[in-house]
Amino acid sequence: MARDITRVKPNIDEDNAEETTESRPGRVTKDVTGSIQPGWSVDHRPAYKSADRPTRFTVGDDEEVLMKFIEPLPFAPIYQHWIATKEGRRAYVCLGTGCPMCDRGDRAKSSDWFNVAVLPKEGGEPTLQVWYATADPAKAIKDKAEKPRYSPLNKPGLYFAVSKTQGKNGFNTYTIDPVKEEELEEWAVQPLTQSQIEQFEKDAYTAEIVKQHTKTELLEIARQYLED
Ligand SMILES: [Zn+2]
Repeated sequence: MARDITRVKPNIDEDNAEETTESRPGRVTKDVTGSIQPGWSVDHRPAYKSADRPTRFTVGDDEEVLMKFIEPLPFAPIYQHWIATKEGRRAYVCLGTGCPMCDRGDRAKSSDWFNVAVLPKEGGEPTLQVWYATADPAKAIKDKAEKPRYSPLNKPGLYFAVSKTQGKNGFNTYTIDPVKEEELEEWAVQPLTQSQIEQFEKDAYTAEIVKQHTKTELLEIARQYLED
């Protein structure tokens, strides 16, 4: 039976910590294990655009970032274990029932991944980014999404200004203010065109970018880095 380990939150900006969405050389994941077959590499392209690892949506201190949700819901609502490994803190997707990391008393944290289009203030092209929303921003987003006037989140003409403040406990608290298309002028920002929106919808990331480890792999990592 696993002990209940109370973990003290280290002073680390989890919102900006590295996601394990990319394949690392020498790292065995479920996606590649045993899947190498004869043939041409070009015919075995992963379904997602492997070359472009998503640009992480971030909000700096004293900054408001203007963006538009591309979809009504997170494309990957997941739970992750954040483990301090010798390579730094890494996120591992929780297996749920029978998860070796849960068994050792580590508490998985929620992460909701959204496709968002970011509108740069100083002109320039809007870009597709992924918001790996931890519990605080996810709750703020959900609160908005549940109000009929901001639902669905990707409603035509609906944008959001996102900012954050750091609390005494080191956690960031996010503010998500709706911005109507006609208010964009005050921001000196051009609204997205229909064709830009369609392109972002086409390019939107899917749950395929979530790297999941096998139970055996998680067991090994848990053994190495978590107490019994
Ligand atoms: Zn777990």
